[in-house]
Amino acid sequence: MTIQGCLLCDVVSGARKLPIVLETDRISAIGASIEALSAGHCVVFPKRHASSLHEVDDADLAEILPAIKRVARAMGIGSYNVLQNNGAVAGQTVFHAHVHLIPKSSAEDGLRRMVDTHRHVDHGVIFETIRARLG
Ligand SMILES: [Zn+2]
Repeated sequence: MTIQGCLLCDVVSGARKLPIVLETDRISAIGASIEALSAGHCVVFPKRHASSLHEVDDADLAEILPAIKRVARAMGIGSYNVLQNNGAVAGQTVFHAHVHLIPKSSAEDGLRRMVDTHRHVDHGVIFETIRARLG
């Protein structure tokens, strides 16, 4: 299923032309030529529309990390970040779930580390709640 007006659905339908570097029946990997954080920045996404990672079909998800691995190997890179944002507050700007592969050739290139360790939060309570909800 594709959504009209969705950038990545438009890539899937062919309405929008971005450089496709890898494609299977379930996923596509494209060059992030619009807002690339480094040379070779790619985006891997399911062809079936889902806004966030937790809405993506499991079989589609199962192809995304192997696709990132294949693309990274094809680029011959050893340093890179894999980034996945969900929700506007988390930095998602295209609301079709996708995973970034961002090559990093230097400390100044690509994704930069943000440091805020949240030591003031009681993480134990949070993790215990999650574990209880997962049963
Ligand atoms: Zn979409």
